[in-house]
Amino acid sequence: MTQGDELSKQLDVSNILDGKQVANLVREELRLKVDGLVQQGMRRPGLAVVLIGDNPASHVYVKNKVAACKKAGIESFFHQFDANVSLPEVLSCIDKLNNDKNVDGILVQLPLPKHLPTDVVLEALRPDKDADGLHPYNLGQLLSGKEGLRPCTPKGIMVLLERYGVAIAGKQAVVVGRSNLVGKPIALMLQEKNATVTICHSKTANLDQVCRTADVLVVAAGRENMVRGSWVKPGAVVIDVGINRIEMPNGESQLVGDVEFASAVEVASLITPVPGGVGPMTVAMLLANTVTAYEMHMIV
Ligand code: NAD
Repeated sequence: MTQGDELSKQLDVSNILDGKQVANLVREELRLKVDGLVQQGMRRPGLAVVLIGDNPASHVYVKNKVAACKKAGIESFFHQFDANVSLPEVLSCIDKLNNDKNVDGILVQLPLPKHLPTDVVLEALRPDKDADGLHPYNLGQLLSGKEGLRPCTPKGIMVLLERYGVAIAGKQAVVVGRSNLVGKPIALMLQEKNATVTICHSKTANLDQVCRTADVLVVAAGRENMVRGSWVKPGAVVIDVGINRIEMPNGESQLVGDVEFASAVEVASLITPVPGGVGPMTVAMLLANTVTAYEMHMIV
């Protein structure tokens, strides 16, 4: 029996793809693995987190990631800079972390302040310490079907589908969004698993019709409630990557996805909620990538 079969037995029977539950399981598996290694006398894996500026959402994400490391037995090293930090200062920090033997993974929380070029900062990371899997080397490895550290959000989606036993081969997959962070890599990963993939974007004509062809529909557009239930083919598997904060009439704010959940849940065979779907899987994959990097470092 595979881990996926084991999990399927534990998961609630509904059409919700429960990312929180699967992420907790993955995190527990990692904790057990790390504990086992430490018991054999090895050091703990280490993740360095670099946070620049005062974006409130970034502060929340980083806090959650550091807490998740602690629970999994991964050491975290926190480096914080003011929003006006210079590029050489950031690069010097990355250089030190690249050469620090206790650091296996480095995460630079995005987005960066406007004066810092994201590509230059990401390219400064050692590819084998690129915990977010966004270095051009790792993206190139993905493109050529070779091993490497994979971007966390798309990797988390693939693990979620796998753990729920969703068959991909031969299916029609539609990805809405073509960012380097989500859209392009998830399209490649679905294709690697033998789906026939269509990539949509802001200039796609008749988006609703294209979405209706999908057996597996992944939406990463950053447009609140854009995909309606009527855009979803009956029985499709829907992955909602979007995280949008909206103001409610009572003045409070709420997180919603790119898919109108209430109508889509009636049509889909499986669907991720927001929050509690893709987000927790992203954090779990950051830890998984750190442990993978650690294993590479300990073998060498
Ligand atoms: P992005 O802005 O870089 O890219 C958005 C993509 O959507 C673009 O390729 C654009 O062409 C496409 N798009 C925009 N409007 C569209 C429209 N009306 N119709 C069709 N396509 C359209 O965003 P991103 O970084 O890929 O993130 C997308 C969403 O996913 C955001 O809401 C982001 O917050 C969320 N996100 C969530 C996680 C997570 O862990 N859950 C991780 C990363 C991103």
